[in-house]
Amino acid sequence: MSRFFSEKYLDLEPYTPGEQPRDTLKLKLNTNESPYPPAPGVTEAVAEASRKLNLYSDPECRELRKALAENLNIHEEELIMANGSDDVLNFAFQAFCDDHIPAVFPDITYGFYPVFAQVNRIPYREIPLRDDLTLDPKAYDHAAATIFIANPNAPTGIALGRKQIEEIVKHNPYNVVVVDEAYVDFGGESCIPLIREHDNLLVIRTFSKSRSLAGGRLGFGAGQEELIRDLNSIRYSTNPYNVNSMTAAAGKACLKQDAYNLENCRRIMETREETADRLRAMGFEMTESSANFLFVRHEKLPDDTLYQRLRKRGILIRRFGRERIRDYSRITIGTPEQMRQLLQAIQTILEEKA
Ligand code: PMP
Repeated sequence: MSRFFSEKYLDLEPYTPGEQPRDTLKLKLNTNESPYPPAPGVTEAVAEASRKLNLYSDPECRELRKALAENLNIHEEELIMANGSDDVLNFAFQAFCDDHIPAVFPDITYGFYPVFAQVNRIPYREIPLRDDLTLDPKAYDHAAATIFIANPNAPTGIALGRKQIEEIVKHNPYNVVVVDEAYVDFGGESCIPLIREHDNLLVIRTFSKSRSLAGGRLGFGAGQEELIRDLNSIRYSTNPYNVNSMTAAAGKACLKQDAYNLENCRRIMETREETADRLRAMGFEMTESSANFLFVRHEKLPDDTLYQRLRKRGILIRRFGRERIRDYSRITIGTPEQMRQLLQAIQTILEEKA
């Protein structure tokens, strides 16, 4: 830290992104990226947009919002585009929380939520998940706070149904409920169809996982026009050009071929179920995942044993520091061939251990 760093950040613990090694690695299964390349047409659209990099990008993302609104069957005014969904999440913390309106979220969830609260100096409360790591919607009744729920949750992969989320929204009429649907395309139920009925519901989604654009950084929020206007007030006060023109072009091209993306999601779900069956047969326990990852543990591989041993073999998975989940690892679902390599490595590790 330099001697100039503001005192207000002395206790800040920045978010630690998953490792992004580029070499020496055989398999990267730690940050829930898609194993499939972007849709046909994306590369060409990016190249074409790059010819006009001398010009600023469109701060309103008009063409992209139009295409996305059609895709989601909502109005353009109900959408805000951003530099990954993290960007919209940050806007939501800034727009809808303060000293009097804290943030609440589960104790086990996306690790960035407490960091967004801290960096924006917002008080927050964590509500423990049940012992089986499921979320009790009743625990959020009249929370008197802005509620952040990842659905499906991360890193557990467990999803709540749309009806259960709607109950939370209905029981908190004076507060905003933010539903982070980063993984919804892998078997969850989106709450976007509910935004017209509830002025306190904001749904946040990303192109990073199901649309194979993690490196492009594209996310969005969907909600009633007034909520979106509030988020735009924050966006225009920080970085109006948050979506660059190549990414906007990539997003638009990617939506033209959405059947390709949805087919990839179907393949990933199929591979997830096959991998889960194989892991269970090897003695792993896991949560029921509706996401593009599995959250697993094995009694013979406690703490970081699995993580370390796979790492030695050039396979990277993800672990989390929290005590409650110290024996768990999160494994991103890759192609069937990648999963075959993973399962083979795990089989060898278990045999070594025996
Ligand atoms: N929400 C959840 C639950 C996530 O796991 C992630 C990915 N780390 C994000 C949001 C952010 O994704 P991105 O900024 O790439 O859209």
